Amino acid sequence: MKKIRITQCRFCGGTEFITAYHSGYARVQSAESFMKTANLYHTICRDCGSVLRSFVKEPEKLLKKSERRQEGES
Ligand SMILES: [Zn+2]
Repeated sequence: MKKIRITQCRFCGGTEFITAYHSGYARVQSAESFMKTANLYHTICRDCGSVLRSFVKEPEKLLKKSERRQEGES
């Protein structure tokens, strides 16, 4: 997975960020499989609270094993 580095808030220019995630049932679910879900993480600007980026940490896990680029533990 490519690393994304956010250095400045595009809304207020702030440079401090907090990473938070939806827990429990607020997970993203694969469109292909009910069983495959992932926590949705957000990068949030400390100064204005805008969500700058939303992401899952292991997107490959939303795919079927045969479609993954790398074999990870499921
Ligand atoms: Zn901001």
